[in-house]
Amino acid sequence: MKKHVAVIGAGIEGVASAIELLRDGHRVTLIEPGEPGGEQAASYGNAGWLSSMSVLPPSVPGLWKKVPGFLMDPLGPLAIRWTYLPKVLPWLLRYMEAGSSEAKLLKIASALRPLLKDTALLHTALAAEAGCSQLIEHRGLMHVYPSRAAFQGEAMGWRIRKQVGIQWKELEGEALRAVEPDLSPDYTFAVLIEEAGRCLAPGAYVAALFAYALSRGAEHRKAPAKGFRIEMGRLKAVTLADGQEVLCEAAVVSAGARSAPLAAQLGNKVPLETERGYHVMLEGANAGPRHSMQLSKAKMVVNPMRDGLRAAGQVEIAGLDAAPNWKRAEILRDHLVKSFPGLPDPFPAERVKMWMGHRPSMPDGMPCLGLSSRCTDVVLAFGHGHVGLVAGARTGRIVAQLVDGRPPEIDIAPFSAARFK
Ligand SMILES: Cc1cc2nc3c(=O)[nH]c(=O)nc-3n(C[C@H](O)[C@H](O)[C@H](O)COP(=O)(O)OP(=O)(O)OC[C@H]3O[C@@H](n4cnc5c(N)ncnc54)[C@H](O)[C@@H]3O)c2cc1C
Repeated sequence: MKKHVAVIGAGIEGVASAIELLRDGHRVTLIEPGEPGGEQAASYGNAGWLSSMSVLPPSVPGLWKKVPGFLMDPLGPLAIRWTYLPKVLPWLLRYMEAGSSEAKLLKIASALRPLLKDTALLHTALAAEAGCSQLIEHRGLMHVYPSRAAFQGEAMGWRIRKQVGIQWKELEGEALRAVEPDLSPDYTFAVLIEEAGRCLAPGAYVAALFAYALSRGAEHRKAPAKGFRIEMGRLKAVTLADGQEVLCEAAVVSAGARSAPLAAQLGNKVPLETERGYHVMLEGANAGPRHSMQLSKAKMVVNPMRDGLRAAGQVEIAGLDAAPNWKRAEILRDHLVKSFPGLPDPFPAERVKMWMGHRPSMPDGMPCLGLSSRCTDVVLAFGHGHVGLVAGARTGRIVAQLVDGRPPEIDIAPFSAARFK
């Protein structure tokens, strides 16, 4: 049966879902109060990695020992604001528990791998369909290290990646220099994951997918969704903050870091937290990487994008409403300039742009993807944390399969929102 589906939120999960639903012949209304692909969305400011190898949650065994450091150093790669600690403590305990052993990490990696596998290809196809092929590139991503020994220091993570079928090439010394001539000689070892890809302008990509959805007949309601009207267990409408309703037979909750209050109304009280991240863009950069790469020393991704050279990273636990700490973006800028000595130091301030956004993060690094508990007419598709962009293409397909009542193309049982009961 063809339905009217209200998709709540037009970040990458929402727009990819809308396109797949339209492909199946459904009528779609995208409910989005902001600019689709705009700065309010994590989908705007991410690092642009289509990193099908990002199967590990951020938490690792022994993380608890570092928590005092996270609290003491507000500028470290992971920082927790003191004032927010009481609120975030239950989430933090789950976060540490999720990565507390290699066996647990392997279980998560085995669940995430099918969601992320081949997604550079899926995004390439989606972009071609939407007429924005120039925004997706499929030539591999790098992790770079000061030395082979530093890479071996992360042996557990790479061992798990190998176990779930991820392959890579190693480049050392001159071989690395030959492909990345601008990279600081402080880095002498790299792994290249050829299956992965990158996006050259994530905000523009989401905006292009949104425009494509409209061109295929989707409608846009520019208001925040507030809740649901459910009668006798069936969805009748999504209610809006302005008091209006969007009458519909199905809905998708894809409001990123703001999805929890909506999910709670559907019987899914989930521990969704924001892992705030930052980026810095250097416009008109005259040096930088040929491949997009993660620099191990700075724990940040550098991506040469359409509008400049972007460095993105940092995890700051401080909630949705606290003001950004721009010093964190300055740290990214300083690392970037040091890592590519051909860049002017200091980089001209008028060509530097900074951004802070909200990763929608579940404590175990896996999204909530599946039917809601209270009403099977509503699909939950949020909480993708660090991998929302790469996972977006397959998430959209799975959402459409669930709305149609077809079996999803991968096992989504590990992503059930009910796992947090
Ligand atoms: C610094 C940083 C780097 C990252 N790098 C990568 C990367 O390289 N690769 C990767 O895969 N992922 C990366 N991520 C994660 C990725 O950006 C997110 O997981 C992804 O963008 C989440 O998409 P989304 O559609 O769920 O949410 P969002 O993009 O945040 O979109 C949610 C939308 O919902 C709207 N909304 C909110 N409330 C309501 C409401 N009540 N009603 C209607 N609409 C509402 C918002 O306005 C917004 O447009 C990164 C994130 C950050 C912060």
